[in-house]
This record gives sequence, structure tokens and C-alpha cells, in this order.
Amino acid sequence: MKRIVVLRLGHRPFRDQRMTTHVALAARALGAEGILLTSGDKSIEQNVDDVTKRWGGEFYVREGVNWKREIKTWKDSGGKVCHLTMYGINLPDVIDEIKDAEKLMVIVGAEKVPAEVYDLADWNVAIGQQPHSEVAALAIFLDRLQEGEELKRSFKRGLKIIPQRKGKCVKRG
Ligand code: SAM
Repeated sequence: MKRIVVLRLGHRPFRDQRMTTHVALAARALGAEGILLTSGDKSIEQNVDDVTKRWGGEFYVREGVNWKREIKTWKDSGGKVCHLTMYGINLPDVIDEIKDAEKLMVIVGAEKVPAEVYDLADWNVAIGQQPHSEVAALAIFLDRLQEGEELKRSFKRGLKIIPQRKGKCVKRG
């Protein structure tokens, strides 16, 4: 897998602010290069950019995007699209073919996802066939996709945690 980008669809102001921030932080920590938000909520971009400034890496947030245009542009440039939904094919039955993609856009929803997204996606994938959370779904998906390698990655610049069995140790990168 060379490139992963997350597209967050349909953020409800106030109600989804924290959840969208957590989707973005999980995307950043677990191997995505950036996140596209259909909402025009500047505070999310600001919060996530602050984390990136402190903790390093090149993660980007683009808010206020047109989802249909982003999906089409991604596909036109040879990218594949995977939409996470409990109605899709269960992850263990499809993950091997998704691993072959060189560029992958991962879509997560908030409220009802437009029917067209199911058609535009190359894969509609369930992380188990029960409703839960976009953060949980994204985290499990990214981990299975990268076979845990994303947890070994270090970020350029920023603060570095020196792992401790007890207590905390943080150094400047
Ligand atoms: N009823 C909504 C729908 O029509 O998709 C579910 C909304 S759920 C709170 C928000 C998002 O979490 C979904 O759009 C999906 O991306 C993700 N999600 C929740 N449970 C999931 C599951 N079991 N498998 C894959 N994705 C899931």
C-alpha cells in the first residue's frame, strides 16, 4: 500500500465535531496521508493541524470538499475507493483484494450515506455486520490493511515518546 486518504462524509455541526476530530486523529496515527472533510468546520482542521505541528509528520486536512468530485478525481488518477458500511462485505472476506491497491480512499459516514457512494465505491466493506462507530471501523480497517505495520512507524519532526513500562518520557524530535 503506497497511499491512503480518508474521506469523512456528512458531519453534523456540534454533534459530530468530536467524532470527526477523532476520525482525523485515528487516520493520522494509523497511516493515512490526509483527510478530506465534506463539512466546512475550520475548528477540526485547526485542532488536527495543532496535533501535527506538535507531534510531527505531514498529515493534511482539507475541509469543505465536494465528495463526488473528490471520488471521481481519485478514481480518474488510478485510485481505488473503499466505503466502510455495516451493510457491505465483511472485512475478512475481502481484505486480501483491497491490499493490492496502490492508492486507496477510505470513506466513512456520519449520518445516512447517499446511495451513490455505494455505487461509486470499488468495495463496500463491513467491519462486522453490527452498527458501531466510524472511529472503530476506520481503526480496525487500517490495521488489517497494513497488517500492524502502521504501529511501528515513526513521524518526522515533533515530540517523541520514549516508551516506558511505568511513567511518561517525551523528547523533542
Ligand atoms: N445508519 C448509518 C448508515 O446508514 O450508514 C450508520 C451511521 S454510523 C454511526 C457512521 C459510520 O460509521 C458509517 O457511515 C460507517 O462508515 C461506520 N460504521 C459503523 N458501523 C460500521 C460497521 N459495522 N462496519 C463498517 N463501518 C461501520
